[in-house]
Amino acid sequence: GTKRLRLPPWLKTEFPIGKNYSKLKGDLRHLKLHTVCEEARCPNVGECWGGGESGIATATIMVLGDTCTRGCRFCSIKTSRSPPPPDPSEPLNTAEAVCEWGLDYVVLTSVDRDDLPDGGANHFAETVRQIKQRKPSMLVECLTPDFAGDLSCVERVVDSGLDVYAHNVETVRELQRHVRDHRANFEQSLKVLEHVKIYKENSITKTSIMLGLGEKDDEVLRTLEALRSVGVDCVTLGQYMQPTKRHLKVKEYVTPEKFAFWEAEGKRLGFAYTASGPLVRSSYKAGRT
Ligand code: SF4
Ligand code: SF4
Repeated sequence: GTKRLRLPPWLKTEFPIGKNYSKLKGDLRHLKLHTVCEEARCPNVGECWGGGESGIATATIMVLGDTCTRGCRFCSIKTSRSPPPPDPSEPLNTAEAVCEWGLDYVVLTSVDRDDLPDGGANHFAETVRQIKQRKPSMLVECLTPDFAGDLSCVERVVDSGLDVYAHNVETVRELQRHVRDHRANFEQSLKVLEHVKIYKENSITKTSIMLGLGEKDDEVLRTLEALRSVGVDCVTLGQYMQPTKRHLKVKEYVTPEKFAFWEAEGKRLGFAYTASGPLVRSSYKAGRT
C-alpha cells in the first residue's frame, strides 16, 4: 500500500541533553566540521556528544565532501558522478578541530568516492594519523565505503593505526539490491570486513543493519550468522527512518521488544558487542565497544 505508517510512541523522543553537549555544540561553530550527528539530525546527539553515563564524548565526522558517487534508496546524501576533488588540507584541519573539540571517541566516515583511484582510502588514513599524532589517547573508528571491493584500500585504512574498522552491510542479504546502490552488495561488504581481520588479526570490526525495510526474521538471523562467520566483533541494529518522501518507505516499526530479542541473539551468536534498539545508530555508544 502507499499509506505511511504512523510513528509509534517509542520513537517520539525528547533529546536527552548531556553535561558536555552545550559546550561541544558551542565549540563546533568555529571548527568547520561536518558532523553526521547534526546533518542527519540524529536523536542521540545529546547523549553522544555529552558523553552519557560513560562520560565518553563521541561524534561522527564526514570527510571527503558531501557528495556521493552512489545513490542508495535509504540515504539522503547528494549524488554526482564527479564530486569536487577532496580538500588536501582536510586531514590536518579535521585532526586539529577534533582534538580541540574535546572528544574522546571519533567516528570518521565518508560518502562513496568511486571517482577516486583509491576511493579516498589514503585520505581516511592520513586523517587518522594526524589525529593520533596530536592526541594518541583519542579512539578512532573509521566507517568506510566498500572501496568497490579493492582490498588494498582496506589495508591502507587498517595501516593508519585506527582502533575500530566499521563497514555497514545496511540490510539483510535478500534486500541489498532493493535498498543499496547497485554497485554495493552483501558479498563485497562481507569481504571488506573479513579482510580487515585477515590483514591484521587483532583488529576490531563492526557493522550495522537497519530494520523495518521488510526483512524477515530468518533473513536477519542468517545475516548475523554470516557476519559472525567472518569474525565481525560488533553489530548494531536500529530502526530505518525514511529521510524524505522520495526515499524507501518504512515497512515496519520494529518494537523495542523485538530489538531486545536481536540483542540477545547477537550475544548468543558470540558478538563481543551488540547494540539493538529503535534509536540505535551505527556510531551509537561507540565508545563502549
Ligand atoms: Fe552522532 Fe552517531 Fe551519536 Fe548519532 S549515534 S549523535 S550520528 S555519534
Ligand atoms: Fe549514502 Fe553511503 Fe549510499 Fe552514498 S554509498 S548514497 S553516502 S549510503
